[in-house]
Amino acid sequence: MLKLENIDAYYGYIHALKDVSLEIKEGNIVTLLGANGAGKTTILKVISGLMKPQKGGITFGDKSLTGQSPEKIVKFGIVQSPEGRQVFPELTVKENLQIGAYTQKDRKEAAKSLEKVFAYFPRLKEREKQDAGTLSGGEQQMLAIGRALMNKPKLLLLDEPSLGLAPLIVKDIFSIIREINRQGTTVFLVEQNANQALSISHHAYILETGKVIHHGPAQLIRNDPKIKQAYLGGH
Ligand code: ATP
Repeated sequence: MLKLENIDAYYGYIHALKDVSLEIKEGNIVTLLGANGAGKTTILKVISGLMKPQKGGITFGDKSLTGQSPEKIVKFGIVQSPEGRQVFPELTVKENLQIGAYTQKDRKEAAKSLEKVFAYFPRLKEREKQDAGTLSGGEQQMLAIGRALMNKPKLLLLDEPSLGLAPLIVKDIFSIIREINRQGTTVFLVEQNANQALSISHHAYILETGKVIHHGPAQLIRNDPKIKQAYLGGH
């Protein structure tokens, strides 16, 4: 579905991505693991058109994404859940979601998307009239994912959705991500929470200082002693 081939990307003289190739197959959850500064966010920026690679190609189905604007890429169906849960604190939950549907001109379609988001996140439905700024961290994360879903993505990009959340909420969020995937959305997940991310993923990539050093089926990676030692805290 999405292919990155031999991508090189720089910030000035900093060589952030070095010959990165990866593939996200339709219907999968693919996880990208790596330490702080490995280049994970940079890969997301390259996919969503916020950063132009100096070398390499990106294709989405039969379309080339190279040189496309971020707006066009959203229209193709690649949507990132806003980083750091950037919800609008003074708007209600429902208003935040309605704003999320900016690619949908058809009101009926937008209303359908809203119902779908509420079906994934009943907690958001219960709080639809509440100001987003009063939600808990976990609920704000749900709202951010819900906002991305309002655009009916084919491929959903998630940048560390579990960051800073309590374990029980993380469990909830991961099981909702799995459900979103079951219902047909392909997911690319960037995570530090390796064990949990791998437990819901089909395939995983490991990035180290801008290079893909390993990839394979998530279950194999999860049980690989060397990987466990380096990335999963040895558990
Ligand atoms: P984190 O988990 O900390 O977000 P990451 O794996 O997402 O890490 P990136 O944010 O992609 O890593 O950063 C990759 C490299 O590029 C790092 O060395 C970082 O310092 C550098 N970098 C990132 N953004 C910029 C920028 N705007 N200007 C210069 N260098 C940057």
